[in-house]
Formats: sequence, structure tokens, C-alpha cells
Amino acid sequence: MRYLSTRGQIEPVSFTDAVMMGLANDGGLLLPESIPTVGSREIEQFQELSYPELAFALFRLFVGGDIPEPVLEKLIQQSYATFDHPAVAPLARHGDIFILELFHGQTLAFKDIALQFLGNLFAWILAERQESMNILGATSGDTGSAAIYGVRGKKNINIFILHPHGKVSPVQEKQMTSVLDPNVFNIAVEGTFDDGQRIVKEIFADLDFKRTHHLGAVNSINWARIMAQIVYYFWAFLQLPAAERKTVDIVVPSGNFGNIFAGYLAKRMGLPIRRLVLASNENNILNRFIATGDYRCSEVVPTWSPSMDIQVASNFERYLYYLLEGNPEKVRQAFVQLRETGAIAVGEELLSRVREDFGTGFATNDETLSTIADFHQQTGYILDPHTAVGVKVAGQLRRDEKDGATFICLATAHPAKFPDAVHRAIGSYPPVPESLRDIDQRQCRFQILPADTTAVKNYIREQLSLQ
Ligand SMILES: *Cc1c(COP(=O)(O)O)cnc(C)c1O
Repeated sequence: MRYLSTRGQIEPVSFTDAVMMGLANDGGLLLPESIPTVGSREIEQFQELSYPELAFALFRLFVGGDIPEPVLEKLIQQSYATFDHPAVAPLARHGDIFILELFHGQTLAFKDIALQFLGNLFAWILAERQESMNILGATSGDTGSAAIYGVRGKKNINIFILHPHGKVSPVQEKQMTSVLDPNVFNIAVEGTFDDGQRIVKEIFADLDFKRTHHLGAVNSINWARIMAQIVYYFWAFLQLPAAERKTVDIVVPSGNFGNIFAGYLAKRMGLPIRRLVLASNENNILNRFIATGDYRCSEVVPTWSPSMDIQVASNFERYLYYLLEGNPEKVRQAFVQLRETGAIAVGEELLSRVREDFGTGFATNDETLSTIADFHQQTGYILDPHTAVGVKVAGQLRRDEKDGATFICLATAHPAKFPDAVHRAIGSYPPVPESLRDIDQRQCRFQILPADTTAVKNYIREQLSLQ
């Protein structure tokens, strides 16, 4: 399988090159040159597989011989052995909805599913090529810790993660900064998440610095992250009782469009679900796009579901590419339009296609908390605030539903990661899982730096020269 850019201005590359490239060199995002399909007989046969076996069956369609199959199998086994549930991602019914728990990895958010695998994949590719890599990224919380846990202690990889000093949740800060492996560098920037993001972009734009220091990226522009997320859409469907499989909607709490885009690909591959439902919080640019065809950025407002507080959804470009019939010229034009007018607008015909692909809804801040409270009262189950956004939207859609569809909501984080929101909603704190038990006592290490690109560059240079 070869990979193309949504902007159409690079030669096709192999799977491993696509993973190492991150963002395509022409500024676009990488996609497989064709979407592999699986037939209904094959999907039936998937029924017998464990989560890692299913991942292998699907990944091999995208890797296409670029990694020896026994190696691929081992990388997958290694990645999911770190999860604390034998099913990796268990599905269970609570009230009238199925919840797929994607938070059984070490940092308690769904990002572990892709970043554990990406860490192992990077390590293998670098060893093969006898190269090294320095990962640089900015985080508002979940991505940073999942990426750090994905590569801690690995040979040939260092990771530098910027977080806004004092502005991530206490649990998130402890998770990131208590990883003391010598290849992990936490930078607490005296500024906001946007400052961190801007600094990272400026450093990547300095191609000389990027090349000299072998910089690499782990955000959800990386194709391997999307690929890894396709698996649990198939998995969720296969865990449903047979009687529930007729009409299935999967609801996805969304921010950067990375998670739900993987679901879109699963559906294109042949997964027999009716609809993907995009659930937004008050930062509902994607929800408004699906409702009106107008993609227009506004200010980010802080919510109880901070990992969805995003306006520029980077993976949206991948979907736009398919919507515009794989025409990179049209994708480039759309982004020129976005730059010049602050919006991308699609006409009625395309909008009706968007609506065939996605349902949508959003939850306000108050609705997020009241959903946690109501759901807890009705079922005894504690939702985290991101998952609550999805459950709220599922409830809205179910009310309009005539043919008794089955709803699955993806649970993207463990409630213990957001104890304050839960406490405010139900008056008590969620039970603390093993991995967070002693977190307050752990030793932490981080470097505080001003929100200044030169200061961060100097720090990276200095740390690398010491190794
Ligand atoms: C990252 C994240 C999301 C949003 O996922 P996208 O792929 O950006 O749409 C939702 N919930 C949690 C808990 C997250 O960490």
C-alpha cells in the first residue's frame, strides 16, 4: 500500500515513510491510495479474534508488506499487553446505550490505543534504519501523557512535550511529569496551550533545526494513529449481541476529528453500521459544519471536556479530500478559501453527502454535568465529561428514532481523570484506579521556560548535546 497527500504534491510513499513523515512534505495529510474493503463473510470470521488479532487482520491491509508480518504481530501484542483489561476495550450495556470503554491504557484516555502502538512502531523503524528521532509536541493534557507513555525508555527516541504551566489538570500534570526516564523532557511553558502550539509550529517551520535535530511528530496527523483507531469500530460492532446489529449508530465525542475519521474509514471498509454521530461540546465547529455546511472557526471557550476544546480540527482535511472526490486541487482551493475568508462552505449537494456520512449534536457545559448526574442516577455508571457529551447527543437522537436503532457511545476517558467535573455533577469523586493511586506522592521533573521559541530551541539543543 502506498500513501498520497491530500494536497497532491508529493510522490507516493510507503507505509513506514508515511509514519515517519507525519505531516506530508507539501503541507497536506497522508492517506492510503485506496481504501481496502472487507466483505461480510470476513467480518463474520473476525468474530473469533482477540483485540490484538483483529488489529493484525486490519493493519496488514494498510501496511502491505512494508513490515514483516511476525514483526507487526509482535508490535501489536506488545502494545496492547499494557492495557489493564483482558478485552482491551470492553463493551457493556448501561441503560439503553452501549458504552465502549477505550480508557484501559496507562494514561486512562483513548489516545493510549494509538500511541502505545505508534511508540513501538517508531522504535522498530528507527532500529531498522539505524536512525534516531526527537519527538516534539504541545499538549493540553491527554496527548502529552499518552505520547510520553508510548515512548518512555525507548532507544533512539527522545520526547519533548510542552504543556501550559499550571493550566493542565493536576492529574494530567502529574501523569506527564512523573515519568522520570532520561529520554522524557517535560517543558512547562509560562503561557497558554496556544503558546505551546505556536512554539512547536515555529520550530517545525525552521527546516534547518528540524533536520539537524531529527524532529518527529506524534499528533493525530500521523497516519498510524488513525489506522490504530479503525480497529475498535470493528471491535465494538463484533461485541454487540447478534440481535442488536441491525441498525447501529456509533457516537463519538470529537475535537480534532481524528477519532471519528477512523470510524468513517471503518465504514468505508465495509463495517455495516448506519451512521457515525459527531458529538461536540460548546466548541462546536464540526457540529455546525455537519448541520449547515459552513466550516468557520471562532474563539475556543474552556469547557468541562477540555480535550475537545479545539477549533482547528486538523483531520478534517482528510475527510474533505474524500468529500471532494479525491481531488487535491479542490482541497488546496478550500484551504486558500479558509485562509482568505475564515471559512469553508460546501453547497447543498455535498452537504447532503456529509449528512449521509454523519449525524451530529452538541452538549452545553450544563448539559454535560447534568448528563453525568442523570446517567449515574439511572444506571449507577459514572461517565467522564467527554463521554457525557456523547451520551447526551445519543439521547437527543434516540428521541427522534422510530426504528429502535442500537447506540454505541465511545468512552474516551476514565472519569477519575476529571474528578472535579464528576464531583460537581454527582457530589462524590469517582473511584481511583490503580494507576493513579500514589500519583500525589510521585516525584516529578519538568523545566519551566518562558513562552518563547528561542528559549525552547536552546533548551532542546542543550539537552541533546548532553546525551
Ligand atoms: C483527544 C480526546 C478527544 C477528542 O478526540 P479527537 O480525535 O481529537 O476528535 C475526546 N475525548 C478525550 C478524552 C480525548 O483525550
